[in-house]
Amino acid sequence: MTDERTIAMERLREQGLGCTRCDLHLSGTHVVWGEGDLHAQVMLIGQGPGEQEAKAGRPFVGPSGEVLNEWLATTGIDRSKLWISNTIKHWATSLNERGRRVNRTPKTSEVQACRIWIEGELTIVAPKILVCIGAPSAQAIIDKKFKITESRGQWFKGPNDEDVIATFHPSYLIRLRAADVAAYDAAWAQVLDDFRAVAERAGELNIDLN
Ligand code: SF4
Repeated sequence: MTDERTIAMERLREQGLGCTRCDLHLSGTHVVWGEGDLHAQVMLIGQGPGEQEAKAGRPFVGPSGEVLNEWLATTGIDRSKLWISNTIKHWATSLNERGRRVNRTPKTSEVQACRIWIEGELTIVAPKILVCIGAPSAQAIIDKKFKITESRGQWFKGPNDEDVIATFHPSYLIRLRAADVAAYDAAWAQVLDDFRAVAERAGELNIDLN
């Protein structure tokens, strides 16, 4: 039997598929909607889809998704028990020197335009814990001046009184691996600490993530 949350999310998603609230709808790529357990009590919010996600129409399925899956597996968190979404639903790109589309950080105006959809997802799923993956997500959910290097791993309150924590985005770690191995190792350990903190807080709230 289809439950109320499924109906409400499908209605919201159908509205989102036709969204023209910012210029990213002109990109010609898929809207990448959230996915997972509609009754999840933990929600992950990334910054926005990358190339692979835009092609697949699903969040965290490319290289960033592989890294996220490794973090979740290492810290004993079952991805199927989460709702996973992004602050913006279209792929934000710029052209590199060879004229190829590459990822870019979403503009504040794009995040603001797209906020209506993440707010809708928060209302329907009603999670108790939010995990902001990357600075744009933390700036959208916690504080527009949020600095990920200073405040990741700390607990804050979300728009609906959720417990919120922020950590690095996998794409940052992927770039760091190529540039500075020692910094990459340190950041990797910090992310695992952050996800362990999520698992611990979930345990305190009797949320089963295994
Ligand atoms: S990024 Fe968000 S606000 Fe912009 S067009 Fe896509 S769905 Fe709409």
